[in-house]
Amino acid sequence: MLVTGGAGFIGANFVHHLLGAYSDLRIVNLDKLTYAGSKSRLSGLPNAAHHHFVEGDIGDAELLAGLLRDFSVDTVVHFAAESHVDRSIEGPAVFVETNVLGTYNLLHCAKEYWLTEKRFAPHQCRFHHISTDEVYGSLEPTADAFTEQHAYQPNSPYAATKAGSDHLVRAYAHTFGLPVTLSNCSNNYGPRQHREKFIPTVINACLRRQPIPVYGDGSNIRDWLYVDDHCAGIDAIIRHGAPSGTYNIGGNNERSNIDIAGTICALFDDLLPEKGAHAPLISFVADRPGHDWRYAIDTGKIKRELGWEARESFSSGLRKTIEFYRQGGGKT
Ligand code: NAD
Repeated sequence: MLVTGGAGFIGANFVHHLLGAYSDLRIVNLDKLTYAGSKSRLSGLPNAAHHHFVEGDIGDAELLAGLLRDFSVDTVVHFAAESHVDRSIEGPAVFVETNVLGTYNLLHCAKEYWLTEKRFAPHQCRFHHISTDEVYGSLEPTADAFTEQHAYQPNSPYAATKAGSDHLVRAYAHTFGLPVTLSNCSNNYGPRQHREKFIPTVINACLRRQPIPVYGDGSNIRDWLYVDDHCAGIDAIIRHGAPSGTYNIGGNNERSNIDIAGTICALFDDLLPEKGAHAPLISFVADRPGHDWRYAIDTGKIKRELGWEARESFSSGLRKTIEFYRQGGGKT
């Protein structure tokens, strides 16, 4: 299996998850180690001898062709991306380069190796693309959650480049017969997330007793999923998903940002009562331009077809995440 972006938050958790679950699996992990990537996330891997790390760019066709051939790769799981919405507003170019052109490059190399060179039958290879619920745009307060049929209406440069990559994946399946699956997931949280993202920001502000920045009035709603549950969902899709199947993955756990910040503060009040109340640290900051108001995921399809559903409760997942950062994790 070639995993791209496996030194990032979800990719690294996925590599830990899979190597712990399957003793016969071998993983080649290709990551450019941008500001978001860190090999420290890969320390303590189970079955580490079955993991081979390569520092490199998904935009490098020669490197990709060599890896596919040298390691006889039959499965690609594609996480590598620029992933932070705020950064996509400040500098969208690298999002187009990595998320759109990089994904094209990977698709092209997989097609050349699997379909032209090896002449694999569809059941012999699989390209799984990791995407986001942000491609669907924003929901009104009472609107139904996103199903897989929801129209694409990406609003941020990040979401637009992920939507572009999703379309390319579909096109490679439809036009060339590349065996693909695709998943659109809601917000992940858990150990090993970069400190710039919302939940680690709140946790680290509580740990340091610094202001907790919350955009606007904090009413924006996201669905939150514990990262291990996402990894289990991806694994189920790769193994049992329908050809060209696309699956929404979510936690049935819609929360406003202010609710999340308040919940984390309350957990810290229990954990560190001697430090006093944490909620007064919450500080509202100017909203992000074009900030989507609400995302919600309908997980009916993956539950019906693959029997997957989220297992971790939000409070236990948050406790594990807080413990990770309390122990000094996430210093990337
Ligand atoms: P991340 O930013 O933590 O990790 C991205 C990884 O990709 C980093 O290790 C980085 O070094 C690597 N990378 C970036 N550009 C590269 C390139 N050109 N070549 C090779 N490697 C490169 O991101 P994440 O939060 O782990 O997200 C992983 C995937 O999941 C992304 O595709 C993202 O769109 C998607 N996703 C994330 C979330 C979430 O809540 N974090 C939710 C839904 C979907």
